[in-house]
Amino acid sequence: MQLLSQRKKIVILGGGCGGVVAATQLGRKLGADHDVILVDRRPDHIFMPAFLFVMLGERQPRDISRSLKILEKRNVRVIQSEIHGIDPVRQEVALEKEKISYDYLIVSLGLQTRPDLVSGFAEASQHPWEMDSAVRLRDSLANFRGGRVVVGVPLGPYRCPPAPYEAQWMLDGYFRKKGIRDHVEIEYFTREAEPTGEAHDPVVWMDAESKRRGIKQNYEFVVRSIDPEKKVVQGLYNAEISYDLLVMVPPHRPAQVLLDCGLADTETGIRVDYDTLQTKWDNVYAIGDCADMPASKAGGVAHQEADVLAHNLAVEITGKGRPVDLWLHTI
Ligand SMILES: Cc1cc2nc3c(=O)[nH]c(=O)nc-3n(C[C@H](O)[C@H](O)[C@H](O)COP(=O)(O)OP(=O)(O)OC[C@H]3O[C@@H](n4cnc5c(N)ncnc54)[C@H](O)[C@@H]3O)c2cc1C
Repeated sequence: MQLLSQRKKIVILGGGCGGVVAATQLGRKLGADHDVILVDRRPDHIFMPAFLFVMLGERQPRDISRSLKILEKRNVRVIQSEIHGIDPVRQEVALEKEKISYDYLIVSLGLQTRPDLVSGFAEASQHPWEMDSAVRLRDSLANFRGGRVVVGVPLGPYRCPPAPYEAQWMLDGYFRKKGIRDHVEIEYFTREAEPTGEAHDPVVWMDAESKRRGIKQNYEFVVRSIDPEKKVVQGLYNAEISYDLLVMVPPHRPAQVLLDCGLADTETGIRVDYDTLQTKWDNVYAIGDCADMPASKAGGVAHQEADVLAHNLAVEITGKGRPVDLWLHTI
């Protein structure tokens, strides 16, 4: 029988891609001998890659949401609460109604969308980077009969760098299917330089694919603000792009709680050891979009990190098995 003093409490913050995988694996590996607790403000896990299908009306919000309580079958206690703070000295997390202590803390709080960081953004852009906005965009598309559709990206990191390309192509296919592609101009803007190099380089290939579909690519366009009345995106050096429907990715930043407690830097997220995912605080690890790893902000990355971290923590806690190396398969 497990001695009470050896019983460990592993707290996982966030029930997105990284948090759910870490909780599932640790619950399975540690069973009832230890406490695995997952905290999220939402009752459900939301599968964000499918926001693009919500945008087109091919999925409903309920199709891409699952109750986090399902994790309780895997020995995971789920607490629905806002997370207000982390105290690394006391090894405690402050929730709405209680403080919970931890022996090990896994932070997987993703990145938060921050429409307030670009003037005019909230009134102007409809985008599939949040569920409610994806639903609004779906409804706008249903009523759209023609005009200029502009897809674009902000400065700084955002969830899934290739997704704005997918969004352009899916919109192209949607308008073709609807029989109105001849009445729609699609344009894309990014602050990146025009890609050059080998045709099989992913960015070169994506650029070529967009052009093949008749989508104009505006490179080195840095957004300053948006004028929702004139329907114009204003860039640096007086550059402007007009639109009828704007599908711009919102700026993203680390969760406010991570900035407030000093675990995350302003834009880059939480500094982690690239091999162990350990943060500057003892027994505190970060995975997924909130971790400042040299990798895409992608669910696939969060999943791989969660698998490796859960395995290695289980080895440390139980003394059984051998740790494995983190080797990310991503661009
Ligand atoms: C349109 C779109 C398409 C995408 N396509 C792909 C794809 O094809 N492939 C791919 O790999 N990835 C894709 N992604 C990216 C992927 O969804 C994210 O990289 C992934 O979800 C990150 O997982 P995470 O666990 O780090 O964070 P998240 O999934 O963002 O989870 C963070 C969780 O923390 C919770 N939270 C945050 N702050 C608090 C707080 N203070 N209190 C309580 N709870 C809090 C949130 O509610 C959330 O549930 C896409 C994303 C989008 C938007």
